[in-house]
Amino acid sequence: MYPTATPLSRRTSVAVDVGGVVIGGGAPIVVQSMTNTDTADVLGTAEQVRALARAGSELVRITVDRDESAAAVPKIRDRLDAWGVTVPLIGDFHYIGHKLLADHPACAEALAKYRINPGNVGFKDKRDRQFTAIVEQAIRHGKAVRIGVNWGSLDQELLTRLMDENAAKGAPLTARAVMHEAMVQSALLSAELAEEIGLGRDRIVVSAKVSQIQDLVKVSCEIAARSNHALHLGLTEAGMGSKGLVASSAALGILLQQGIGDTIRYSLTPEPGGDRTKEVTAAQELLQTMGFRTFAPVVAACPGCGRTTSTVFQELAHKIQEHIRVSMPEWRARYPGVEGLEVAVMGCIVNGPGESKHADIGISLPGTGEAPSAPVFVDGKKVATLKGATIAEDFEAMVADYIETRFGKGRAAE
Ligand code: SF4
Repeated sequence: MYPTATPLSRRTSVAVDVGGVVIGGGAPIVVQSMTNTDTADVLGTAEQVRALARAGSELVRITVDRDESAAAVPKIRDRLDAWGVTVPLIGDFHYIGHKLLADHPACAEALAKYRINPGNVGFKDKRDRQFTAIVEQAIRHGKAVRIGVNWGSLDQELLTRLMDENAAKGAPLTARAVMHEAMVQSALLSAELAEEIGLGRDRIVVSAKVSQIQDLVKVSCEIAARSNHALHLGLTEAGMGSKGLVASSAALGILLQQGIGDTIRYSLTPEPGGDRTKEVTAAQELLQTMGFRTFAPVVAACPGCGRTTSTVFQELAHKIQEHIRVSMPEWRARYPGVEGLEVAVMGCIVNGPGESKHADIGISLPGTGEAPSAPVFVDGKKVATLKGATIAEDFEAMVADYIETRFGKGRAAE
């Protein structure tokens, strides 16, 4: 088992109910994601939401950028309900959210949360009016709001004022430090305004996203220290491939270990035509490998080295991992508790038997010069030695038997 996480101390935040999913207040850290379809495309968006929910996303955000999108939202909700997909939807609004919510009450009702970017709700006297209008819609419909600041669209009036004040100081801060302060203030002053308008703190989530790890850590720590609002974390524009994964994991890992963060999103750029659900898997894997939550069985596999005789072990590790990924939606319902399963697939005798004994079920494949046999360990004990050309298939069958015995209906008789 991965050790139970021991963050420095979990920050105390106010719980926010978003369509039945609780963010903050000590609830498990929530995984969320965002579609990249045109929301006006009802079927395409509903299908992607379903895929994200099926992968394990507990909240899904969709863009609501124009009348056609707003009109599509209740249809998307209906379609999902008809499929039995209950994941709450979050509307992402910029510039004209106040108008869209007023003109499309069915959209306002179908969403569980509205995301407002304080830097994109209008300028000067219009800003407060438009912000107020969105918050009033949230109050009217009993919805939550995320005050989502982004450094790419930071409130320029606030930033300019803080820059001017800073320049007048005897020992001015760096421009970067002022930007951090502007982000923190933009989030917290907007949250304060929402409360003054009448939205309860138990309806407000805040976030401040930047694209650099150290900036995100700094800004998030400041918000966490100055408020008890539920906090959404994400490294914005994290990028593609391993860069996006590594950067997001480093940034979120640092904060989560300090007890900061109630919900997370990986903002990964998919490859053209790539699988959007990877951002969900990445978020789950971070939380699981850090010991905060358990989502799916894990496969421990050694990296392989010069002692690995063939690709059999990589293929087996990959096959088992894929089998688990594909089977999990069904397994979740059929085998309660299976998400805690640990499987080991090891390449040789050096660490193979030891690692396999620590797993629930593990196999140590033969390395260079070793006898062509593979001991299998179940619950720490050697139970079989597999040989011949069907080692992979035989081990897969043993994993299936183990799952059925330990997590299937039969275990009720235990
Ligand atoms: S377990 Fe064996 S094959 Fe795998 S990395 Fe270690 S020495 Fe190499």
